Amino acid sequence: MTRSLTLLGATGSIGASTLDLVRRDREHWRIEALTAHSSAAELAALAREFGAKIAVVSDEACLPALRDALAGSGIEAAGGRKALCEAALRPVDMTVAAIVGCAGLAPVMAAIERGGTIALANKEALVSAGEVMMQAVAKHGATLLPTDSEHNAIFQCLSGNRLSDVAKITLTASGGPLRTWSTERLAAATPAEAVAHPNWSMGAKISVDSATMMNKGLEYIEAFHLFPVGLDRLGIVVHPQSVIHSMVEFRDRSTLAQLGPSDMRVPIASCLAWPHRMETPLAPLDLAAIGELTFFPPDETRFPATRLAREAILAGGSAPAILNAANEVAVAAFLAGQIGFTRIAAMVEETLQRSNDAPRPATLDEVLAVDQSARRQALTLLETNALV
Ligand code: NDP
Ligand code: MG
Repeated sequence: MTRSLTLLGATGSIGASTLDLVRRDREHWRIEALTAHSSAAELAALAREFGAKIAVVSDEACLPALRDALAGSGIEAAGGRKALCEAALRPVDMTVAAIVGCAGLAPVMAAIERGGTIALANKEALVSAGEVMMQAVAKHGATLLPTDSEHNAIFQCLSGNRLSDVAKITLTASGGPLRTWSTERLAAATPAEAVAHPNWSMGAKISVDSATMMNKGLEYIEAFHLFPVGLDRLGIVVHPQSVIHSMVEFRDRSTLAQLGPSDMRVPIASCLAWPHRMETPLAPLDLAAIGELTFFPPDETRFPATRLAREAILAGGSAPAILNAANEVAVAAFLAGQIGFTRIAAMVEETLQRSNDAPRPATLDEVLAVDQSARRQALTLLETNALV
């Protein structure tokens, strides 16, 4: 049976992992839409390879380059944010949401409003829209398949179990490349050091999030919405080997964990094949070669991001969207060499404090307005050197 697929964020790291799996199983997939932001040539090459019906660049200035690169292929080319949402609205069996940042929110909401099945990697969309997104999922009968490795692990552990039997959900965190660094050393960490993740190969933004532990903070908020067991039943443990991707303890004290290679093709395959299984090209897990699995409590003094995320969940309303927006601005500033590593969390905290009168968003437009306003606030901090 052939299934149709739209891949939002085809030119990124998750995009490449998804297409690697599709490439190995070509006869079972038909590609509807592939999207990118500005990588027109790369997108056109993928659209040609996979025979996509439409390719979309969200940066409209890149549309002429996309058109040129697709000339004679019969593949439709489109550009701009509206075109991105229109592409997400086209009927398909599966949408893989792999855009980075809140920029992916509107197309994810379009796929949800269509009542589609969505493999969600784009955690910032869920963090920002939280209740608005979950309400839309329920209202339109959409299916959200968690693709983030931790949430995919939890989803697998919960299969066949009742949420009411859950005693605790524990997200594992690798701790990132700077896990053992002192606060003084962290202050001087360079972008190259922060993106050098020991276990996972990922896009630049999530790599920095992993180093600051904001990735775990965002995942905390993500888990809060996906698995509504309450904040007091959600925990984080640092597990540097990234073999256990997360675990669920039930009230009888039985704990189920999902283990696997640290390769996103595993959780992506679990979503693509859901509710069944499919082959991946990965080597079997060799626990004897790995030798030992270790665990540590998170250190919120050196890495305050998980505390900020917990506070944002408790504050509710617009706080998670503000946290996410400020973090996106701060990570971009860090990668551009404008602020130091430890200023990322400081900028998020300061933006949250300065935006505490933001209204509770009840619609997609209101979430996007909170996002924009928090970005402006964070940029003001940057421009006035309030934190440097
Ligand atoms: P990448 O940076 O590698 O790729 C991002 C993709 O989104 C690219 O296709 C990019 O297009 C597109 N994009 C970037 N900015 C915009 C924009 N403003 N509007 C529309 N499209 C845009 O990111 P990753 O693949 O690493 O991550 C994607 C998402 O998945 C993130 O939310 C991340 O947190 C999550 N995730 C990633 C994991 C990983 O292993 N990489 C693991 C778990 C979750 P272009 O190439 O043109 O810039
Ligand atoms: Mg993850």
